[in-house]
Amino acid sequence: MNICFATSECVPYVKTGGLADVCGALPKALSELGHRVRVVLPLYRSIRVFDHGFERVAGLQQVPVQLYDRQVTFDTWRGHVPGSAVEVFLVDCPAYFHRSQPYTNDGDEADRFIFFQHAVFHLLQRLAWAPDVLHCNDWQTSLMPVLLRKNYGWDRLFAETASVLTLHNTGYQGRFDRSRLPLAGLSVSDFYPGGPYELHGAFCFMKPGLLYADVINTVSPTYAREIQTQEFGCDLDGVLRSRSRDLYGILNGIDTGAWNPATDTLIPFTYDADTLEHKEKNKQALLREMHLPHAPDVPVVGVVSRFVHQKGFQLLQPIMQELLHRVPVQFVVLGSGEAYLEDFFRWAHAAFPDRVAVYVGYNDRLSHLIEAGADLFLMPSAYEPCGLNQMYSLNYGTVPIVRKTGGLADTVHDYHDGDGRGNGFTFTDFTPYALYVTILRALGVFKDRNAWETIMRRGMTQDFSWTASARRYVELYEAARHRQDLSVAV
Ligand code: ADP
Repeated sequence: MNICFATSECVPYVKTGGLADVCGALPKALSELGHRVRVVLPLYRSIRVFDHGFERVAGLQQVPVQLYDRQVTFDTWRGHVPGSAVEVFLVDCPAYFHRSQPYTNDGDEADRFIFFQHAVFHLLQRLAWAPDVLHCNDWQTSLMPVLLRKNYGWDRLFAETASVLTLHNTGYQGRFDRSRLPLAGLSVSDFYPGGPYELHGAFCFMKPGLLYADVINTVSPTYAREIQTQEFGCDLDGVLRSRSRDLYGILNGIDTGAWNPATDTLIPFTYDADTLEHKEKNKQALLREMHLPHAPDVPVVGVVSRFVHQKGFQLLQPIMQELLHRVPVQFVVLGSGEAYLEDFFRWAHAAFPDRVAVYVGYNDRLSHLIEAGADLFLMPSAYEPCGLNQMYSLNYGTVPIVRKTGGLADTVHDYHDGDGRGNGFTFTDFTPYALYVTILRALGVFKDRNAWETIMRRGMTQDFSWTASARRYVELYEAARHRQDLSVAV
């Protein structure tokens, strides 16, 4: 199959979230399965083209794109995702993409990604390359399914092209002023309350994507179900329900090259399920680095996270003091974000300097050491489309305590369910009490070393590689091409 990824982020070039990881890893895995994959990405100022081996494409310079009353041109660069046959094309338009951040609050934010989406079609036309599947991602490329039908449907090049839209986070929908419709090349007469482009009076990029994509998917089966409810749907649950037959959930994989305790170059002692004693040495190294005393019997709870409401750490606030008074436990926390959460963790460290260590900031090496050295890992998310850290934790034998939502619910199974799958501890109610009880349950089991090692080994032997997920995407693409249901329903 020929597959074109249109995306606003891709590892290793530019990343603000999980979208970048998916667009870096999935094309590679698909290519290894024998498919031809090309990724198209805006050239942001932060991308060092020569460092990544990009070259200008002769004949694809100063390509004009007519957007209503203005003509915008772009240059094209070509390179490869490192270590793969995946071609990456960069759309180079400094006027739109040389900003301090990939996403902005500038007045022309809608225009930037309207332009990018048209530029992808122009690029494909210039390359005379017909993708079997146009894979769009999040709001930045979610007009493409409608543009494919309405604006480029005349071009026989795209006669066989199916569109897939992946939602990495439904909370970000690209809502803009209706005045941007003509620039997008969409008909103003189709803008009316409840119409294909309208959401609460705004021009919503995501909505037509949901209506026009041949199939839609999100990054875990549970999140695919959740977003069809009012609680998680962010005002698009009705539209999503109307497409429920074509809406799937495929769990993201993890980068097993970077995140494997047996080969991890960022941790002092590599280990696997047969050498768990080395994990204890990582625990010692972690506690030494974070200036906490080490005691083998005292469990260490790790946190690596953005500190935002979504991640749920506000649940810990009212119970932290009681927890630390009641049970011997230590916390090692890495993250940054909203001030009230940073302040909370700083307070906990000040109040319990031997029990709580905090690093406010971003630190890749420390995140690996926490995964290797902690006994438990905490993710009490309000919602979690997929989540990566719980999968890293499972593979590192660091038992996760998670709220049962989205991808967390699909990957972590409660030990006390007693079904032989227990690899962690889960809770459902988004309350401090539910979290408190669950932490106490986990710490109770921690005292039973045999039970604990069983839990660790279950996680460590799970396969979260991209290969498995890529196979599901191939099925999804086939479904999009043949407009038929997958055998595995959500
Ligand atoms: P989200 O994409 O919502 O932030 P995920 O769990 O899907 O959550 O992925 C978060 C990724 O970012 C993980 O790879 C995690 O290790 C990393 N990360 C988050 N905060 C930090 C930090 N402060 N330092 C290092 N890595 C971090």
